[in-house]
Amino acid sequence: MIYLDHAATTPVHPRVAEAMHPYLTNVYGNPSSLHGFGREARMGLERARDRIAHILGAEPQTIVFTSGGTEADNMAIIGGAMAQQDRGRHVITSSVEHHAVLHACAHLEQLGFEVTYLPVDETGMVSLEELKQAVRPDTVLVSIMYGNNEVGTIQPIEEIGRFLRERNIVFHTDAVQAFGVMPLNVSELPVDMLSVSAHKINGPKGVGALYLGRKVPIQPHLHGGKQERNRRGGTENLAGIVGFAEAAEIAAREMEERVAKYRQMREAMLAVWREAGIAYHVNGHPERHLPHILNVSFPGVHTETMLMNLDLAGIAAASGSACTSGSLELSHVLQAMCLDDTVMRSAVRFSFGITNTVEEVEQAAQTTADIVKRVAR
Ligand SMILES: *Cc1c(COP(=O)(O)O)cnc(C)c1O
Repeated sequence: MIYLDHAATTPVHPRVAEAMHPYLTNVYGNPSSLHGFGREARMGLERARDRIAHILGAEPQTIVFTSGGTEADNMAIIGGAMAQQDRGRHVITSSVEHHAVLHACAHLEQLGFEVTYLPVDETGMVSLEELKQAVRPDTVLVSIMYGNNEVGTIQPIEEIGRFLRERNIVFHTDAVQAFGVMPLNVSELPVDMLSVSAHKINGPKGVGALYLGRKVPIQPHLHGGKQERNRRGGTENLAGIVGFAEAAEIAAREMEERVAKYRQMREAMLAVWREAGIAYHVNGHPERHLPHILNVSFPGVHTETMLMNLDLAGIAAASGSACTSGSLELSHVLQAMCLDDTVMRSAVRFSFGITNTVEEVEQAAQTTADIVKRVAR
């Protein structure tokens, strides 16, 4: 079996599981309790917060732990917009965001906000000029993802952030896919909020964080205890948080090697297809792309057909789009990129991770080429 769907989720790193173990057994205190059990738990929690903050170049108190990337995105967008609704009710995002952002924006629309969905070019990139034109006096929040989860395109976050800083408009970026493969330093990056998730970087599922700049207005969405400095009620997922910190630290330490390996894997796959002489089309930006995501179309082979045949051969890849009741919906990302119908209907996403080897990736590419030769019409 060859797993090439790391953009969907990743296996837990053995050292992450090890780091979590004490917090699933002996250290069971509630971090909010004042007794010794609680204090020990609190120490684990705050040490994890320090480690995540350090990796992001942030102050520890700006890290809010959440139940994952989805909650971090919802908190940033809904919480950020609601807290500023007296100033204006206009939000800007892009048409290629993860559904955690798009559906949070749709919810804002139901609450009476107006949302502008910026278009992208054929590489999946938003344009700074179009963003500038979309900004209005009542714009209170902009959310643009760092790197796309389907095609890997990296957005011009620095340029957008610099422009928005001048205008005093709150800027959020969903960095879930970029975290671990790109250096992210919020002390240099002009963003006010940034979402990350543990299970995309070999941490456990169900935990993530929002970097929330000190002066950024936010309306909490979970009402309960005073946890996370009154920004998110609920007893913390301590074992998950500790695992997240461990995963983030390993990823930061190994980032260069990982990225080099993913680049090599990508080149290896393309080389196999080139040599096999099959027709293929790489989707996304030719240079500004995340190293671990390769979205490619094989015109003449439907996405479903390819994925089924790959699965039969023990290879896990993805379409990058939601599969509902067995029928494949066209990806909103590829549609926003205005790709040809044949390209859109034959797109497959391969995404690499730490357990992959170049050999197995080459083998997967060979199997893919064989499938194309067998079924393309
Ligand atoms: C996976 C993902 C999310 C959602 O994160 P969860 O932790 O699964 O909720 C959000 N944004 C992007 C870009 C993702 O890839």
